[in-house]
Amino acid sequence: MTISRSENMRRIKGKNTKPEMLVRMILRSLGYPGYRLHRRELPGKPDIAYIGHRKAIIVNGCFWHGHECKKGSRKPKSNQDYWISKISRNKERDCANQTALSNLGWEILVVWECELKEQEKLSKRLRGFLVIKAKSGLNDCANSQFRNPVCHFQPRLVQIPPVH
Ligand SMILES: [Zn+2]
Repeated sequence: MTISRSENMRRIKGKNTKPEMLVRMILRSLGYPGYRLHRRELPGKPDIAYIGHRKAIIVNGCFWHGHECKKGSRKPKSNQDYWISKISRNKERDCANQTALSNLGWEILVVWECELKEQEKLSKRLRGFLVIKAKSGLNDCANSQFRNPVCHFQPRLVQIPPVH
């Protein structure tokens, strides 16, 4: 398999994409290296998962997953029907997977491709998601893109030491 072909395959499968690699790099630099990737046993095989802490980070391409940003709302000129239905199927699947994960007691952070432009902001968001919450309380989800009424976050499960 040539390099360009394997690169192409990778894009189709959507694994280990550049945005994912960048998020992993930020996580390592924040001091959270213990993630697992694309675990089959978890709904939707989340891109990044901290198993013991039940926290998953999902890195989504804006176009494929229908983000409400400039890139995500861009419509291809040809085959519009095809793309529109494909993207809406992706969104439905994302929603079902995230609900299933959440029902298993997982907390989820969705990172959009367009957020990678502002790495500092993204780092803060990632850290806020991973750090122990000082007080137990309701899950604020730390994520405006993902609101799920069945999100049963239990702070006592989180044992990641804070980063200084
Ligand atoms: Zn976006």
